[in-house]
Amino acid sequence: MIVEIVTIGDELLLGETIDVNAVWLARELGAIGIPVVRRTTVGDGAAAITSAVREALDRTGALITTGGLGPTADDRTRPAIAALFGRELREDASIWEGLRAIWRDRGRPGEPPEANRVQALVPDGAVVLHNRHGTAPGLFLEDEDGRWVAMLPGVPREMRGLMHDELLPRLRARTEDDRRVIRSVTLRTTGIAESSLPDLLGEYAEGFASVTLAYLPGQEGVDLRLTVRDARPGDADQVLATAADALRSRLGRHWYADGPTDLAEVVVHACRETSRRLAVGESCTGGMLASRITSVSGASDIFRGGIIAYDNTVKVEHLGVDPGLLAHQGAVSEEVARAMAAGARAALQADIGVGITGIAGPGGGTPEKPVGLVWIAVDVEGEVVVHGGRFIGDRAEIRFRATQAALNMLRRALLEID
Ligand code: ATP
Ligand code: MG
Repeated sequence: MIVEIVTIGDELLLGETIDVNAVWLARELGAIGIPVVRRTTVGDGAAAITSAVREALDRTGALITTGGLGPTADDRTRPAIAALFGRELREDASIWEGLRAIWRDRGRPGEPPEANRVQALVPDGAVVLHNRHGTAPGLFLEDEDGRWVAMLPGVPREMRGLMHDELLPRLRARTEDDRRVIRSVTLRTTGIAESSLPDLLGEYAEGFASVTLAYLPGQEGVDLRLTVRDARPGDADQVLATAADALRSRLGRHWYADGPTDLAEVVVHACRETSRRLAVGESCTGGMLASRITSVSGASDIFRGGIIAYDNTVKVEHLGVDPGLLAHQGAVSEEVARAMAAGARAALQADIGVGITGIAGPGGGTPEKPVGLVWIAVDVEGEVVVHGGRFIGDRAEIRFRATQAALNMLRRALLEID
């Protein structure tokens, strides 16, 4: 079984509302082995709904819509799809009773407004999907050739509830005999450019026989997502595990974790494993490195603390940076980064010190020291690794990328220890 998704609402086309329904539905369906092969978004107009639904039925024969089931004049999904299937709409007495009960439960006087009556209309032959989370029930409509549409409400919370309670069990039952799944695993890399990865991966750059490989670059680095589609559950896991092992060994030290793990978690873990305590001296990142480290639960075992040495006098007084270095090399220099790392280590009685100094911009750059230039030093018991480089992006990106590079240097240094 394959399905399409049609999300309905002018607000989605206007960009005022992010289409979270389509994203969530695709994930849920993928998890039970039903691939979403196309997503369409249309406005509230009946003609647009009709043509989107007709096309999806012709192509795929199975689709889920969200939105446009409400009581107002801009909610046209129900009549549009009923007309397309050539079915009459009739009031369902039990739905109307349910609406009256909700009305009473909410402490409202009298009867629900007449406008709500459209929510009790059901196309002939449709199955009603009961909504325990709101007023608009969903509808499941199937034609003589087995082509079907499931209509769900637009409100994400109601849509999710209906999907779990009513639609997923139906779809699962339909696919039970020949269950196929979609499985993915994400391998995280950092410190290597997207364009350098194909060379490194060699024969694997194109993916594996039944596994597709996607490159997902971001500020943290490049994630590699491996996906197996349309496989039996046990086979999928095995194929994926084999492919992931092969890729990890190709990636070597560029790989740092699977899934959504933050690099700071890897570093905290490595410090604990090697019994090393950490301290940071930060200038341009203003505490962001310390913040990422302390976001990891259990960081207190290894993290001593940090000094935000933004002003040069703080670099001198609290990190012991030689004023002569600042005068001759400038605050953004290899020597000052080294001195900040050593200073943080000494001042905070740690085994490892990190120093970061750079120009986050947008102002303050010069031809010799352009915006984005950052020097980072990692001092492990007096053994120092230092890196100077220019990061791209705006102020926020430069600062974040600097913390990511510092964490990666830490990770690499800690790998050397054991
Ligand atoms: P209601 O009975 O509440 O009117 P409905 O089925 O008619 O439900 P809509 O009127 O289309 O749904 O949308 C209701 C709310 O849900 C709106 O605030 C809308 O922005 C939000 N919504 C609709 N579709 C989506 C979507 N695809 N993703 C996220 N939010 C959505
Ligand atoms: Mg709407």
